[in-house]
Amino acid sequence: EGRRLASLANAPTRTRDGVDVRLLANAESPGDVALARARGADGVGLYRTEFLFLRHKGLPSEDEQFIAYRDVVLGMGGAQVTIRTLDLGADKADAAGLVIRGEENPALGVRGVRLSLRHPAVFTTQIRAILRAACYGPVRVLVPMVTQPDELIAVRTLFKLARLELKRENIDLPEKLPLGAMVEVPAAAINVRALLEHSDFLAIGTNDLAQYVLAADRGNDALENIYNPLQPALLRLLSHVISAGRRAGKPVSLCGEIGGDENFTALLLALGLCEFSMHPSRILHVRDRLATLDHAKLRSFAPRLLRARTHEEAEALLAAITGNSC
Ligand code: PEP
Ligand code: MG
Repeated sequence: EGRRLASLANAPTRTRDGVDVRLLANAESPGDVALARARGADGVGLYRTEFLFLRHKGLPSEDEQFIAYRDVVLGMGGAQVTIRTLDLGADKADAAGLVIRGEENPALGVRGVRLSLRHPAVFTTQIRAILRAACYGPVRVLVPMVTQPDELIAVRTLFKLARLELKRENIDLPEKLPLGAMVEVPAAAINVRALLEHSDFLAIGTNDLAQYVLAADRGNDALENIYNPLQPALLRLLSHVISAGRRAGKPVSLCGEIGGDENFTALLLALGLCEFSMHPSRILHVRDRLATLDHAKLRSFAPRLLRARTHEEAEALLAAITGNSC
């Protein structure tokens, strides 16, 4: 079994009926990047930069960040790398001393892009490092915890200002740098069309989206019966976001845990997803499963899945669908 899976490292990612799917890696260390490459990832769909800040005492400098980001880009050998701007707060502890202490509800507090925008100097240092690294290969920038369009507009403005600064300093700049929003706040998912006007692509963060839609802490084991990826409300939101991205002609990926769980691959295909991002150790499993699935047939089941009234009902439907050898 291990050997059979290993042989898939260089295989194309395709469904049984010949639909190509993009498999991207979630990465937070050089080891993850090496593994992503070894497993034949089509790129990095989520590079979590906060790990650089957590390992560090204080803040990493522009050059330290530049070198780390550039090494990811070089490590992927020309494949696309999606760098997420700092996502501190809530479950991500704070070594840099940026997070506001004593918030009553940190998960609903100043985290992600909300925090970055409160520290424009720190944010600009990261933005300069990303711009410089983007000269070494195809890079996209992903903004975490977006709730409303003005956050994306503010981030774009900071990128524009940083470009002007770097240009004045005669530092090389990338021609273009796509900017996308993470969809992990319910408001962002419901109002996704407004965000699409300011996004070049979207990445759905189901870990947080599920937590906020279900009002159930992603790390609380006592809530397992509620925190379930098959919750109908979540499925309908996923479908809404994926369809909106498709209609706008913009790529939509998904980078939560379920993206790397092959038991949910059929479900996500049914909902129209064609870009999955996952821990690199999951890539072969998902590629293997995809080859057994019939995309057209699964898509035809979407309306039925979306009518499920409970997660148990959705689960039974999914079992029936995949049992019918899709
Ligand atoms: C998510 O929320 O689904 C996600 C991918 O981001 P993180 O797990 O880093 O919050
Ligand atoms: Mg998240």
